[in-house]
Amino acid sequence: MSSGPVPLAERARTVVPGGVNSGQRNVPGLGDLVITGTGGARFRTADGREFTDFHAAFGPPLLGHNDPDVARAAAETGATLGHMGVGVTEGEVLLAEQLVELLPSVEKVLLTSTGSEATFHALRVARAATGRRLVVKFQGCYHGWHDSVSLNVISEPAKVGGHDPISTGILTEVLDSTLVLPFNDSAAVRHAFAELGSDIAAVIVEPVPHNVGALLPYEEFLTTLREETRRAGSVLVFDEVITGFRHDLGGWQRISGVTPDLTTLGKAIANGAPVGAIGGRADLMDLFSTRPGAPAFFAGTYNGHPGVVAAALATLRKLREEPVHEHVFRLGERARTELRELYARLGVPVTVAGYGSVFVTYFMDGTALDGGVPRTYEDLLANDAARFVGYRRRLLDHGLFELPLNLKRSHISYAHTDEDVDRLLEGTEAAVKAVL
Ligand code: PLP
Repeated sequence: MSSGPVPLAERARTVVPGGVNSGQRNVPGLGDLVITGTGGARFRTADGREFTDFHAAFGPPLLGHNDPDVARAAAETGATLGHMGVGVTEGEVLLAEQLVELLPSVEKVLLTSTGSEATFHALRVARAATGRRLVVKFQGCYHGWHDSVSLNVISEPAKVGGHDPISTGILTEVLDSTLVLPFNDSAAVRHAFAELGSDIAAVIVEPVPHNVGALLPYEEFLTTLREETRRAGSVLVFDEVITGFRHDLGGWQRISGVTPDLTTLGKAIANGAPVGAIGGRADLMDLFSTRPGAPAFFAGTYNGHPGVVAAALATLRKLREEPVHEHVFRLGERARTELRELYARLGVPVTVAGYGSVFVTYFMDGTALDGGVPRTYEDLLANDAARFVGYRRRLLDHGLFELPLNLKRSHISYAHTDEDVDRLLEGTEAAVKAVL
């Protein structure tokens, strides 16, 4: 009996639970996906396949994988400046200055390594500032893995309207401190504030809930959040971990003209290097314990790591100096428009949604929806999950990668070309014909 070398995916499962390092990578139907290389709009796998990547690691590489300028900046800094964990470096100051300049809400800013840390600290400092207990989040929004927000992301229909934790092990007291409201429902927000406003420490929202594809906010909804939180003395947090930099250098707050009290950032800020940030009103930010005597504890061994800060600075430089947004917005618009035309020609009722570089095809008839696109999580309950996932699994046969998980969005990067969109359209047509 011959026994060859044990495949890497199998070795991984022996020593890593499930063989992957995030619950979000536990994706049925992908087989033993071992990644061996990335570059621009592509990645390669150990079994010799190459894919055009529209998943983009859940969103960070807006410039494309291993952008050479970003990689060079990180490597050059890494060669001369290690992480000390005391004091401050020039890069941290330069990055903070740019974030203050770019984001309307940000007067002061602190760096983290991840988006989850940023949203965690936003809620902690909101509670510290207000002395209140309750946090409001919205059905369909994801803000990271920590307890206060680990509920009601992608919920089964029966769980919508109730509490739907995404994990066990969370204290009931913590879950009970989070109110879940329907996104884009101003009346529900006004009602919650009328009943409980004096107990609400913070409202946290993805201004565009991209963790369920793309729900565009009504202008009046974000304005209501601003008015109600201001009147009640609660803290409004825009979680711009996805929308920040990808949609605009000033985030959705610049696009909408609604300025939150705090903003959380991550993902595209450093094109894939692990950087997050929390910024906002100086009086709130000054409550963090980085200031002598301030009450809200804030720490992190890797915060402000020189290599990842260099990656963020190089990313921002490129976003500011090159027509990145123009390029990804044009290709995103082209993809959405031509996907709509394709499905219409095939006679398959779908709803193609998105914004800028983000696109998603829901397998549901959107003609009755306001503006032809979903606005609430409830709208998405009509999506046919089996078809959504089924066609994406078929795309793999055509060298195209859109994450085969229900409701997940896809991304265009600066490295994608018109030929990549052509490829997407051709592969989609073949995949759809195969599954429908
Ligand atoms: N906020 C939003 C809107 C996100 O999409 C995510 C991650 O997907 C997070 C926060 C958490 O960020 P991280 O995964 O870097 O902890």
